Amino acid sequence: MAAYVLTRAGANVLLLEAGGPWDNTKDSVMLKMPYESPRRGASTPDRPFGEFDACIGGWDLQGEPFTNAEGTDFKWWRARMVGGRTNHWGRISLRFGPEDFKAKSRDGLGDDWPIGYSDLAPYYDRIDKLIGVFGNNDNLPNHPGGYFLPPPPPRCYELMVKDAADRLNIWCVASRLSVITKPHNGRMACHYCGQCNRGCRTNSNFSSTNVLIAPALKTGRLTLITNAMAREVTVNNRGLASGVTYGYDFLNRLTSATGSITLKYDGDGNRVQETVGSAITNFLVDDTNPTGYPQVVEELVGGVVQRQYTYGHALISQNQAAGVSFYGMDAQHNPTLH
Ligand SMILES: Cc1cc2nc3c(=O)[nH]c(=O)nc-3n(C[C@H](O)[C@H](O)[C@H](O)COP(=O)(O)OP(=O)(O)OC[C@H]3O[C@@H](n4cnc5c(N)ncnc54)[C@H](O)[C@@H]3O)c2cc1C
Ligand code: SF4
Repeated sequence: MAAYVLTRAGANVLLLEAGGPWDNTKDSVMLKMPYESPRRGASTPDRPFGEFDACIGGWDLQGEPFTNAEGTDFKWWRARMVGGRTNHWGRISLRFGPEDFKAKSRDGLGDDWPIGYSDLAPYYDRIDKLIGVFGNNDNLPNHPGGYFLPPPPPRCYELMVKDAADRLNIWCVASRLSVITKPHNGRMACHYCGQCNRGCRTNSNFSSTNVLIAPALKTGRLTLITNAMAREVTVNNRGLASGVTYGYDFLNRLTSATGSITLKYDGDGNRVQETVGSAITNFLVDDTNPTGYPQVVEELVGGVVQRQYTYGHALISQNQAAGVSFYGMDAQHNPTLH
């Protein structure tokens, strides 16, 4: 959202994404039948919710250790791809109501927010109009209305639930989801295939990928770098952000570097060249090695090999002018030098 708003306001924006590229209008397998895959849709390490699921991520990400405080068991689901968890979410799009900002005043628990609903309402209105949300203005307490597209008509069993709920004096209203039921801002209306979790090829539901990032890219003011996990935001002597550091992890993904850097990738997303200042390094990538991931096996400057890497199931050795280093791996798959 920040990239969308800032680029439209005329700012140049750099967006670093730890995960890889993704375009739901091209990459989604929205209409693939289970029998078309030998896996029949079963999950993969990158897609715990099944191979057809849009979202690449999970509770355990290789190379990204996750710890719990003793006695706790909180698992944080993380997405690693352009659009993040908006490729995964349920699209339920509810506003906080006035009472949600005043918890302490109501029941003595927590704290009241320093702002109230009326401060945020104009921004909720803007987002409704921008992304398209269906629902009804139901006049329920603490559930403010909005600018809604019509909800889909209820199905037969939903009418029966509504009928029973009405008789029991239980509120039963249409959900509010960021799925567009009419053409909206150049996007096609939903055709109710029911496969939102796979990503929508017609762009009829909200994911930041094609509702925010794609329009931001169209302004020409957004630079998107994928497979680039920011490690640290550096600041100048006035305390203002001056850059970001990032580099590469075991999976050949960028995780830290310093200063201005230009990277080139091949069609498979492998890093093949890096330019820092006037120094150009080319990378020879082997994508059939035993680690199961593409790995850089040679670094070349001016056509001359500077470093060579040998892989088994993990990095075994690095060979350069200063000598050969041999590696083992710790429990988090970080190389340890011997
Ligand atoms: C199963 C599920 C269902 C959900 N359903 C709903 C729902 O119905 N309604 C609702 O309102 N919310 C829902 N949510 C929550 C909602 O998806 C998230 O709150 C929302 O997507 C958060 O957006 P975000 O941009 O803050 O973070 P994310 O969407 O997580 O995006 C963060 C991005 O930053 C990248 N990143 C992280 N660290 C770095 C780094 N160091 N350098 C570079 N890039 C980095 C990640 O790869 C990711 O792409 C759901 C979430 C899940 C998991
Ligand atoms: S938004 Fe509609 S058309 Fe798109 S995936 Fe969901 S149900 Fe299918």
